[in-house]
Amino acid sequence: MEASTVPAPALAGRVNVMKFGGSSVADTDKIRGVARRMVAMHETGRPVVGVVSAMGETTDTLAALAAEVSPRPHPREMDMLLSTGERIAAALCAMAIEDLGHRAVSLTGSQAGIVTDTRHTNAKIVDIRPRRILEALADGRVVLVAGFQGVSTAFDVTTLGRGASDLTAVALAAALGGDCEIYTDVEGVFTADPRIVAGARKLPRVSPLEMLEMAGSGARVLQLRSVEFARNHGVPIHVRSTFTGAEGTWIREDPSMEDAIISGITHNEDEAYVTLTDVPDKPGTAASIFNAVAAAGINVDTIIQNAVTHGDADVTFSIPRSDLPLMRDTIEGLCAELGLHWRVDEEAGKVSLIGAGMKSHPGVAARMFQTLAEHGINVRMIATSPIKVSCVIARERVPEAVRALHDAFETELDLAQQGTGAAHA
Ligand code: ADP
Ligand code: ASP
Ligand code: MG
Repeated sequence: MEASTVPAPALAGRVNVMKFGGSSVADTDKIRGVARRMVAMHETGRPVVGVVSAMGETTDTLAALAAEVSPRPHPREMDMLLSTGERIAAALCAMAIEDLGHRAVSLTGSQAGIVTDTRHTNAKIVDIRPRRILEALADGRVVLVAGFQGVSTAFDVTTLGRGASDLTAVALAAALGGDCEIYTDVEGVFTADPRIVAGARKLPRVSPLEMLEMAGSGARVLQLRSVEFARNHGVPIHVRSTFTGAEGTWIREDPSMEDAIISGITHNEDEAYVTLTDVPDKPGTAASIFNAVAAAGINVDTIIQNAVTHGDADVTFSIPRSDLPLMRDTIEGLCAELGLHWRVDEEAGKVSLIGAGMKSHPGVAARMFQTLAEHGINVRMIATSPIKVSCVIARERVPEAVRALHDAFETELDLAQQGTGAAHA
């Protein structure tokens, strides 16, 4: 996107974008609670833009409704349907704020000026034209924006992918030159999912690169594309609790800090692993496979190729399990064309260690494998980046693996929680 930073001439202060997730607006009491929170910020004199997700599990319920009507809902109509969840929450929040004696206005993504491409259900933001937001702020209103949606260059309603109200908030903060607060049902980014590891600790700061790896490997507290966007546009993010006033986690660069060896342990139970066999070992084959997968709009994560005998190879890659129906059509076409065979593993999951300091500290991967071995957990696949080690294991063992790794790397995670880097370890 062209992040056209629009000057806010008549505004009294720096805009504060406050995003509230589905569990933060799950019922009308909670909606009144977040309204009070936005009003309190507004009363400090800061212009407030509230970005809201759909109430509770509304988006899942709407998607299930669509599935009852059609096995393959038309993507444009899916967007018409799914975008309504956030509109309901935005309108209710605006009503609650008016009842607290302040003026508010709710806007759809389209009214808020979020312009996207035409890829329905996973659209990319191409421009933000926040004129209406600025006018309403200058008029003293709290502005509520329905998250997760925009309007395409063909004037249709689009949605930005699951979890993308985070992206709406970050993109608006970039376009308005404001701050970005993500309010959620946990107090920040933790050393592991606090729902799995009771002793997980809140991190004071996470670097944008580490957050990218964490979000990409399953820490759903921030949506991956929102982290990418924030990193590209230099937007710091404050992740914090809707229900307490505690300081949360800052996602921002801090050159004065040492890199932590291990900042967090993430897991992903929502992937499927596709293996292609008899893949001819010649130039262009991988390109044909992944061009076809990309053309189907499927995001591939980990890719592993094993060279095997007789000039053929096995290629395994992970995709979101929700993309499996799309994948089947694509792969069947490819197999027929290239003479490949394929199988899919839907019973696997992934655990990852993330830490910017691990690149200068050997032995992290070995300790990870050792820990899993001590628990009798078999590693099916391994993938690494300079700051991440991931192991694919049986999905049913994932929670146990996360807890075991959290225990094994307790010292390193303690240092990360104290904001102390690898150099002091
Ligand atoms: P929202 O509805 O506010 O967008 P999400 O459900 O998308 O909230 O994200 C918050 C959830 O992310 C938490 O409830 C928590 O279970 C999960 N989570 C996973 N990994 C982490 C982590 N490392 N730190 C904090 N939360 C995490
Ligand atoms: N309501 C949408 C979803 O559930 C977007 C969001 O919550 O951020 O994916
Ligand atoms: Mg979320």
